[in-house]
Amino acid sequence: MTEIFVYNTEARKKVLFEPVDPKNVRMYVCGPTVYGEAHIGNARPYTVFDILFRLLRHVYGETHVSYARNITDIEDKIMDRAAEEGVSIKTITNRYTKIFQEDIRALGSLEPTTEPRATDHIPEMIKMMRTLIEKGNAYEADGHVMFHVPSMENYGRLSRHSRDELVAGARVEVASYKKDPADFVLWKPSSDEQVGWGSPWGRGRPGWHLECSCMIEKQYGETIDIHAGGQDLIFPHHENEIAQSECTNGKQFVRYWMHNGYLTVDGVKMSKSLGNFHTIRDLLNDHGGEPLRLSLLTAHYRQPVDFSHDNATEQKRRLDRWYRLVDGVTASATVPQSVIDALSDDLNTPKAIAALDALASAETAADLKAGANFMGFLLTATDDWFRGDAPEGITTEEIEAMIQARKNARANKDFAESDRIRAALTEKGIALEDSAGGTTWRKAD
Ligand code: AMP
Ligand code: ZN
Repeated sequence: MTEIFVYNTEARKKVLFEPVDPKNVRMYVCGPTVYGEAHIGNARPYTVFDILFRLLRHVYGETHVSYARNITDIEDKIMDRAAEEGVSIKTITNRYTKIFQEDIRALGSLEPTTEPRATDHIPEMIKMMRTLIEKGNAYEADGHVMFHVPSMENYGRLSRHSRDELVAGARVEVASYKKDPADFVLWKPSSDEQVGWGSPWGRGRPGWHLECSCMIEKQYGETIDIHAGGQDLIFPHHENEIAQSECTNGKQFVRYWMHNGYLTVDGVKMSKSLGNFHTIRDLLNDHGGEPLRLSLLTAHYRQPVDFSHDNATEQKRRLDRWYRLVDGVTASATVPQSVIDALSDDLNTPKAIAALDALASAETAADLKAGANFMGFLLTATDDWFRGDAPEGITTEEIEAMIQARKNARANKDFAESDRIRAALTEKGIALEDSAGGTTWRKAD
């Protein structure tokens, strides 16, 4: 069996992946907060951990791997958006969940096995808070339920933050009702106008961290194999999930923590709040799904990757080469070992892409197709894909007419004329590709 090595954030090293139960491998990736269109930075975790999902299915069997990606459908930003538009939060969350799902699908990722929603887990959250209060890990204060950080001896082991950093991280919630400055919110009160649910501590709504602990326990039980997300989730989100879950049931919560690095713009993390973002939607229009997917995978997932239109264009050219080679070719039945080896080494996608490039020749086109398909590239040729837009100074119709004239010349064995037409097209920046299926054109490199 293929051995998979992953970098475990908690251990700070690359380790052999060993699931609790090889017949039931469980992975959870923190999903989006659905209050607006997602940006291409958000797409990074859902693309790189899709590669992990594919690899796990390959090694353990498709029916033996389960992937949960939640939808955070209650959060203050969602409430603000709903208030702005004068609609219910359901209107907002349904709209942006749908857009998110379409975007991620267009980027070539598989559907997760399950997509639990936070608001479907309020009873589980109440139950967990009750347990935490009973065990002395949480307390009620001013309509809030707070997790008491000093009650957990090894709190902070994932992020390895100092006490000062822990306090600074919780600073947004400095409040008189906190017993300790590092304590964090499990539940907070809602005013009459705000969305809320009844609870033993009054009408309110959950803090963000609680939902993932509850959804994981409900879907998968106490211990899961892999929990993943972007690096910004290590602290406080994942640290707090550990605290909630392990203090509730005393079991190890997650065996392998995996975190992707940031997608940046000119070296700065892409984020909604900084305004330096491109939505997935806009970029799909500009570049198409496969070039974007490839550009997200050109860097190793733990390294930063700088987004640029140039990189997407460059990946389109690389895909053009692959597309031309596999046109009309049936994929090999087995995935090339070089691709599996690269991905099994902590998802080394740049190495896997290099392995595909090494297979980019006419003799190995069937392996290229199998490897590319495995990584989520369909390489299903359409004329549109090859062609792109016509360069300046010539129209698509003129190009098609010249190709037809060249075809006629060749049929009449007038090769001087057919060469002349090809040269005239080359002059205009058009390259022709002849294959059994006919002649296609594209902009010359
Ligand atoms: P959010 O909807 O803000 O919770 O983000 C969804 C996912 O995208 C989380 O796993 C974040 O860590 C991740 N994420 C957000 N911004 C970036 C970025 N610029 N680069 C990589 N991942 C990001
Ligand atoms: Zn989460």
